[in-house]
Amino acid sequence: MRAVVFERYGEPAEVREVADPEPAEHGVVVRVEATGLCRSDWHGWQGHDPDIALPHVPGHELAGTVEAVGARVTGWRAGDRVTVPFVCACGSCPACAAGDQQVCERQTQPGFTHWGSFAQYVALDHADVNLVAVPDGMSFATAASLGCRFATAYRAVVQRGRVAAGEWVAVHGCGGVGLSAVMIAAAAGARVVAVDVSPGALDLARRFGAAR
Ligand SMILES: [Zn+2]
Ligand SMILES: [Zn+2]
Repeated sequence: MRAVVFERYGEPAEVREVADPEPAEHGVVVRVEATGLCRSDWHGWQGHDPDIALPHVPGHELAGTVEAVGARVTGWRAGDRVTVPFVCACGSCPACAAGDQQVCERQTQPGFTHWGSFAQYVALDHADVNLVAVPDGMSFATAASLGCRFATAYRAVVQRGRVAAGEWVAVHGCGGVGLSAVMIAAAAGARVVAVDVSPGALDLARRFGAAR
């Protein structure tokens, strides 16, 4: 397959031919149809993440179609349209049992603990725990935005902040996570104040529901 590879931290990456991934027994290989670019990819490229082994393929905000399925996967088959959370959980450790899969003790992260989605194919572990079906009516580009930036913002605004209709929400910084927070807070009925130094980011925030 073709993939974006870097050999050294902070040096230019290049597109090259590499071996196709194989699914783990509990995993799948997904044909990547869309992938996002995230600040965390920059941190990985800069060498800030000790999970990364060189050479490396980044990319963790992805959606695509299942291409190959491991022998122990029961819920998915080739051709299914899917996305995944940024943190893929094991499904069986104490953190997972408590419902806190985002801090799974044996988590894997495509683009960090193994090669990611800046490639034609990506391997995803524990498919029955982690894959999320993408409806036919949703584009792959939209689906690729859900597992990292949108899930992060959703947890902050809805699960931790418990924002209710009519409340004011200030979002400081309108990049990927911030704009997601604007959309989620507006959808919850809040009045959103977007704060950023970039006029372009503020334009997007207004389009996505910020009141000012
Ligand atoms: Zn991300
Ligand atoms: Zn776990």
